[in-house]
Amino acid sequence: MTDLGAPASLSQDEARDRAALIAVDRYDIRVDLRELVDGDRWLATSSIAFTCRKPGAATFVDCVGEVLSATLNDVELDLSTVADGRIPLSGLAAENLLVVSSVQTDTASGDAILRSVDPQDKLVYVWSTFEPDGARRAWACFDQPDLKAVHGFQVSAPQEWTVLSNTGPETVLDRDDGGRLWIFEDTPRLSTYVVVVNAGPFHELREERGGHSLGLYCRQSLKAYLERDAEELFTLTEQGLAFFGERFDMPFPQARYDQVFVPDFGGAMENWGCVTWTDSVLHRSPPTYGQRAYRGLVLLHEMAHMWFGDLVTMRWWDDLWLNEAFASFASSWASASATEYTDAWAAFLAEGQTLAYQQDMGPASHPIRTAVPDVGHAFASFDAITYFKGQAALAQLMAYVSEETFVEGLRSYFRDHAFGNAELGDLMTAIGEAADQDLAGWTTSWLDQAGTDTISLVGTTLLASSPDGGEPRPHALRVGYYDRTEAGLERRGELHVQTAGTTTYLTDLPVADLYLLNDGDLTFASVRTEESSLQVLLAEAPRLPEAVNRAVAVGTAWDMLAKGELSTGDFLDCVLAVLATEQSPGVVEPFFALALRAAEQWSPAVLIPRRLARLAEVAAARADEPDHRTAALHTLAWAASQAEHFALLDAAAEDDVDLAWRVMMRRASLGRYDEAAVTELLARDPDPDAYLRAWGVSAARPVEEAKAEAWDRFWHERSVPAGAPTPAFARCFWRPVQHDLLVPWAHRYLDEVTDVSGGGLLALGGMVRHMRPTTCDEAWLDRARELADSEDVQPVVRTELKIGVDTLSRVLRARS
Ligand SMILES: [Zn+2]
Repeated sequence: MTDLGAPASLSQDEARDRAALIAVDRYDIRVDLRELVDGDRWLATSSIAFTCRKPGAATFVDCVGEVLSATLNDVELDLSTVADGRIPLSGLAAENLLVVSSVQTDTASGDAILRSVDPQDKLVYVWSTFEPDGARRAWACFDQPDLKAVHGFQVSAPQEWTVLSNTGPETVLDRDDGGRLWIFEDTPRLSTYVVVVNAGPFHELREERGGHSLGLYCRQSLKAYLERDAEELFTLTEQGLAFFGERFDMPFPQARYDQVFVPDFGGAMENWGCVTWTDSVLHRSPPTYGQRAYRGLVLLHEMAHMWFGDLVTMRWWDDLWLNEAFASFASSWASASATEYTDAWAAFLAEGQTLAYQQDMGPASHPIRTAVPDVGHAFASFDAITYFKGQAALAQLMAYVSEETFVEGLRSYFRDHAFGNAELGDLMTAIGEAADQDLAGWTTSWLDQAGTDTISLVGTTLLASSPDGGEPRPHALRVGYYDRTEAGLERRGELHVQTAGTTTYLTDLPVADLYLLNDGDLTFASVRTEESSLQVLLAEAPRLPEAVNRAVAVGTAWDMLAKGELSTGDFLDCVLAVLATEQSPGVVEPFFALALRAAEQWSPAVLIPRRLARLAEVAAARADEPDHRTAALHTLAWAASQAEHFALLDAAAEDDVDLAWRVMMRRASLGRYDEAAVTELLARDPDPDAYLRAWGVSAARPVEEAKAEAWDRFWHERSVPAGAPTPAFARCFWRPVQHDLLVPWAHRYLDEVTDVSGGGLLALGGMVRHMRPTTCDEAWLDRARELADSEDVQPVVRTELKIGVDTLSRVLRARS
């Protein structure tokens, strides 16, 4: 037996060499979960059949855990050579069989494997998630995306557990020594990071829809919430599979498609045929439109990965951005085209794209595509640029070549590369051939340059500029022209423009009251229409006929606020006017969120109460409209200070436990903490995770002891689960209005953020991101800048620090 040292991070060069040397035929993996009922041991035996192109050569297999035994072609390997999570292999034959037995006891931190115990009924559940290199923690494998292989799983589990993997179980047998043996059908050729084993006494729902067998699973204590939402989830799944199957000209090739909702999980993971989700999306009170729409996007995002990611996989992690940007793009596309959430693109502009613009204007900006020298850097630039600007660039590409051509290119890409690996160049070649255009210039200017272009209308000339003063990107966009009428701003027409270089003359632009640049939001750019149009845009944004264009107006105002061209008060005038009448639910929630940020974070302390009161008025006025009621009440619960608003909230919260928690949090943040009421609500709330709400209420209190207790729970005890609970808890802690109390904690964040480790890269990134301070002083900015420039911070921490510095320096300027 050998205890392994710190695992090495596979470099791109090592991966390239190994892929040149070997090819993997199949993995036969036996996993034994039976000791996880009471203990921490995950046992596995991985039998790997692989070929070697240069017999006699040497390489290594990845295995992070305790290696119990290993044989290569029936010869015992010397386990004293095992180091850094690698087992050296020498004297390879043309055809090889490697058999490694290992045990993983790190099953409590969420790094690739998590054993969790439901706080209510004490039932045990186990999940795995491997992106980018977690599979090596579960069993021995060649853990890199371009060594794809068939996986055959045999899993032993306690009698009462259900085991879920990428394919359906072929047989389930009783074992003589206790428990059951689940033997799964072979997978197609898959990368090591998209296979999965989840297990536990799950609640199961299964339906046949559109030729597929769809499964939904959750822990027993949440089954009421899954059952409430199952019809919607089944419908979205069916709609998505039909949409992508048609658009990609390739139906999902497996009948079974499962979605498993598990505790303490960050986000969702696109395991082939068996997507794993955080069960915080099974909302404990009826979800809002925004929560349902977002969950639909996640569902479609993971589903798009079945094609783009799982069937055709990036060769190396330097295309991870493309993997994610494509899936996010595809989710908005499918959502708007094939589901009830038809305002998905407007919602994207109001939410994700706004975050991308903001990051892209500061020092945390980077080109969409970046080098990834080793796996440790795979998630380093995983941020709003990767996901959302990347998504916007792909949407712009579709506008640039037309949807029809884009689809034609995608179809040949999937046809040519299914079950294999590909790179960005392969995708651009496929789309370029369909468009009969060379896209090399487009690719370089959109993907290798940081920052956002600005497009301004001066007279009848469009002027484009790039942030570094170089050649701006080509943009395909529309300029809409509108007249003011009694009924609102009336669209008279639009020009379709393709810019090239800095100057584009709009010779056909008729006289109009408003020229709307980037009408329909086709491109990613900071737009400034000419002065008289700008006044109309800001003052009459609610009168624009389409939600996406009202979002262009509010987005422009936010861009101007962030750049110091518009005051917070003027921004609030614009967004609150839109919010007073906005009907599209996909933008109402993100606009309420922007207005709240402007009022409580971007305003000087003396103006915060007055501005929150204005927001509260608008929210209260919309609380009677069924489509907007929940979003309005949630906003009111962040902003309320007057008795009449609390009365409205208390009445609404009588039969709404979620709202009751929100109102209690607001009162606590104002210094009105009521411990007896917390205890009473905790007893009334059927949610097994309700204790987290009580922690949030406590964390919101404007007292030092409350912040200290919350800090310990979050940073030291690590007892706030990953996924939605993390940002929810952080938001309770960081109440911007408690500025004086919180500044020392902002400094404390800098003291401790460099030491945080463990629990997996995604969870770590989530902690660092969501716990980033929302207020600070000038000294904090200096310290954070210095820390971000120092050598010894992890890449993910550096990015978050840079975003924090940029955002908070703009906030401080707006407050002054
Ligand atoms: Zn993804």
